[in-house]
Amino acid sequence: MKLAKSAKAFESWRKTSFAERAKLMRALGEYLRTHAEELSALQTLEMGKTMKSGPAGLVKCAAVCDYYAGNTEKILAQEKIEGDNSEERYVQFDPLGAVLAVMPWNFPFWQVYRFAAPAIMAGNVGLLKHASNVPQCAEAIEKSFIEAGFTEGVFQNLFLSVPQVESVIRDPRVVAVTLTGSERAGASVASIAASEIKKAVLELGGSDPFVVLEDADIARAAATACTARLQANVGQSCISAKRFIVHKKVAKEFTGLLVKEFEKLKIGDPTDTDTDIGPLATEHILAELEQQVKKSVAKGARVVSGGARLKMKGYFYPPTVLTKVKKGMPVYDEEVFGPVAPIIEFANEKEAIRIANDTPYGLGATLFTSDMARAKHLIPQIEAGNVFVNGMVKSDPRAPFGGVKKSGYGRELSAYGIKEFVNIKNVCIKN
Ligand code: NAP
Repeated sequence: MKLAKSAKAFESWRKTSFAERAKLMRALGEYLRTHAEELSALQTLEMGKTMKSGPAGLVKCAAVCDYYAGNTEKILAQEKIEGDNSEERYVQFDPLGAVLAVMPWNFPFWQVYRFAAPAIMAGNVGLLKHASNVPQCAEAIEKSFIEAGFTEGVFQNLFLSVPQVESVIRDPRVVAVTLTGSERAGASVASIAASEIKKAVLELGGSDPFVVLEDADIARAAATACTARLQANVGQSCISAKRFIVHKKVAKEFTGLLVKEFEKLKIGDPTDTDTDIGPLATEHILAELEQQVKKSVAKGARVVSGGARLKMKGYFYPPTVLTKVKKGMPVYDEEVFGPVAPIIEFANEKEAIRIANDTPYGLGATLFTSDMARAKHLIPQIEAGNVFVNGMVKSDPRAPFGGVKKSGYGRELSAYGIKEFVNIKNVCIKN
């Protein structure tokens, strides 16, 4: 029934003007700003994000609505192709139809609006299969569209189990799919879409390198490293800095400063507005993180701070710093989805780049140096979709976001993101 509603909504939504869509998208942004506290409380309840960081995340969701409300008409304007006088040629961008979004729990609102704002402004309609541990967030998202004034069916939440996803992708009323999540889920969804010759965008995991060269401002690098590792979500973020690759001359200083930064943070109840570090989202994540640290320590990593789950009710793990980290340890080889900072030392630039790229993933990367010419020489050598120099990797509605290698394909946000789900139509009219 929901798919039929979606198909019906598409028939009228695709005919609306950019101005009509923008008016509703602005109203959606306004709704999110007005209800930021209330919506944040839902994600705190369902997946443990702190109330200290929650409302700012909702304001960012509003910003992506505003960005596409203000820019879609320009981004999707017809593009003239110069030719001779016997013909008129241009490219136009038509909507495709109903797009299914399979989304994770780690930023339960941001991940969804990041997809929905451009897809819907382009004239598509959206269907959501959200993570099973955030059902109230999923319902609240559908409600936000209705409250903003969108016609029913333009954006709908479907409570699907994983096995049900396949039949929705195969349904002829669904034209494309986007998935943000693990490599395993991405491979499964993309192969089903491929067998139906339907477009897929994948935003998958990351093991982002954070490279500190010997000429960097070490205090600034350590302060940024702390935020970049924890990413407002106890490190459960795809673009958290996950491997700290530090020149051996400055490794001791950097490690000491990072430990001090971690020690400043308050661990506790995520509903208290002065808590920086809440619990991990699930027992499974905590158990996996414990194993990754234990196995790495057994292979020679040294715990400088943290290193064991806290004796508190809930899934609490403290910010942890590990040194003497080498290839072959889980904290080097695997994605670490929690507050653990492994420090890997290098002796020269070539080795730093080799270690940075020594991962199946390629989502983000950070480089700290005071020499901009050196940074610009190194940027092309880094295998990642986002490279930030002297700052942490962040998404921004104006800039493309996505990865290479096992971090997925396709882009979200900016003019690139909105063009993932449009028919780029080549028009030629002969006189
Ligand atoms: P996950 O297990 O892949 O779950 C993500 C979503 O996919 C959930 O809705 C889940 O549903 C669904 N799903 C799981 N297996 C599926 C399958 N075989 N077929 C169809 N759908 C399936 O990921 P997670 O562990 O929750 O999230 C963490 C991962 O996401 C990390 O690797 C992280 O780096 C990545 N991530 C990437 C980005 C990015 O932008 N690149 C952003 C955030 C997170 P259920 O909840 O019902 O299982």
